[in-house]
Amino acid sequence: MQRYSVFSLARNALTHHRDWQPAWRSPPLKDAYDVVIVGAGGHGLAAAYYLAKNHGITDVAVLEKGWLGGGNVARNTVTIRSNYMRDESIPFYVKTVALFDGLTKDLNYNLMYSKRSMIDVVQTYPKLREIKRRMLHMDLYGSTYEPITVSELRQRIPALTGGGTDSRLPIIAGMVHTDAAVCRHDAVAWGYARGADAYGVEMHQNTAVKSLLRGSDGRIAGVETNRGTVKARKVALAVSGHTTSLTETLGLRLPLKTFNLTAFVSEPVKPLIDVVVNCPDIGVYLSQSDRGELVIGGAPDPGQSFRRDIKQNVFEDAVAAMLELFPAFKRLKLMRQWGGSLEIAHDATPIVSRTAVPGLYITAGWWGGFKAIPAGGFTLAHLVAKDEAHPLTEPFSLERFRHLDFVLESGTTTAR
Ligand SMILES: Cc1cc2nc3c(=O)[nH]c(=O)nc-3n(C[C@H](O)[C@H](O)[C@H](O)COP(=O)(O)OP(=O)(O)OC[C@H]3O[C@@H](n4cnc5c(N)ncnc54)[C@H](O)[C@@H]3O)c2cc1C
Repeated sequence: MQRYSVFSLARNALTHHRDWQPAWRSPPLKDAYDVVIVGAGGHGLAAAYYLAKNHGITDVAVLEKGWLGGGNVARNTVTIRSNYMRDESIPFYVKTVALFDGLTKDLNYNLMYSKRSMIDVVQTYPKLREIKRRMLHMDLYGSTYEPITVSELRQRIPALTGGGTDSRLPIIAGMVHTDAAVCRHDAVAWGYARGADAYGVEMHQNTAVKSLLRGSDGRIAGVETNRGTVKARKVALAVSGHTTSLTETLGLRLPLKTFNLTAFVSEPVKPLIDVVVNCPDIGVYLSQSDRGELVIGGAPDPGQSFRRDIKQNVFEDAVAAMLELFPAFKRLKLMRQWGGSLEIAHDATPIVSRTAVPGLYITAGWWGGFKAIPAGGFTLAHLVAKDEAHPLTEPFSLERFRHLDFVLESGTTTAR
């Protein structure tokens, strides 16, 4: 693999950047692999990378119906955090933040990773109680959550001029999560793809999996694609939002529902906000990108749907919520808006699990799953390689629904 560095940049400048190697190959599709991963999003590509790097399994094909990194991995608002509630969840998210911390170096790819803290703006006492409880839990696992006063909050975010004592919902406290970060989302997909390719993993774009195939022994046998049958000893689904469409081809039903989550950006403005601001009581959060655009996300559309655009009423709710706290932003022009289809399990915790079909694995239910990509890929690779759950994702197994052993995280996501 060609290494990226200041020297290779300078060397390639001399040849007008015509001699860069492609970041990954496009080999012909074989008719059989050890492992097929469906979905070249963050989780699928990270799993392919760690399968090769950590477990020496390189006869792997990642099949993608569209283009690599064109799904939710490139549609999110790039917030990375570990402020979860449950003992089963926090260590997983602490691990993912730790992997993100070293990922630019590990992948030799500039992810534009920026550790910048997230500040929760608290406007109701039930939320304050929940957040303080979270703080105590997180403390046990070395994850940071520190309360600040309203005046400290206003000092750190001068643009936040709403939410005064005479407003509908006055701000009553702030909570700072210093581990939070942002990073360039599609670079995560490209970095993992390039890293996996260097180990010999194949990525096949425009290759849609239509159904899963089961052998006469009951095990997974491969997948049927728009380009023919591809056999595999093991198949992992990393298709965010579309898992049930595939598992249903084998008659497997999963406790997942798909919803639409949206975001939008403003025109670029001078540096204004240097943290991620999260307003959980009114359902809006925002940060400022390197280009100066404000990146704004809201609550999901409550109706189940596979749409990837934004509904007018959902968009208006998010704008109205933002203007309550940032009234000066009413002068900003909004430039782009988009959505993605995400699935969520009944307890708002992801599923990284074996299934009733031996050799078939799923990683699914990732609501805030961008932050989870490094640890999600790392643990899925372990599961596929060893056919047993990594300790970090043992509680994320499908078995928890059989035993009603839920990991309730609905308060820590924007999901309803
Ligand atoms: C608006 C929005 C904001 C978000 N903000 C955040 C955030 O701030 N922080 C955070 O942590 N998370 C956030 N998320 C969630 C995060 O983006 C997702 O949870 C995560 O990206 C999902 O994992 P992935 O990257 O593997 O999914 P994807 O990138 O969607 O990958 C799945 C891939 O599977 C492919 N696929 C599907 N079906 C098939 C098939 N049959 N055959 C072949 N390929 C198939 C798709 O084309 C896609 O490329 C946000 C999501 C949205 C939509």
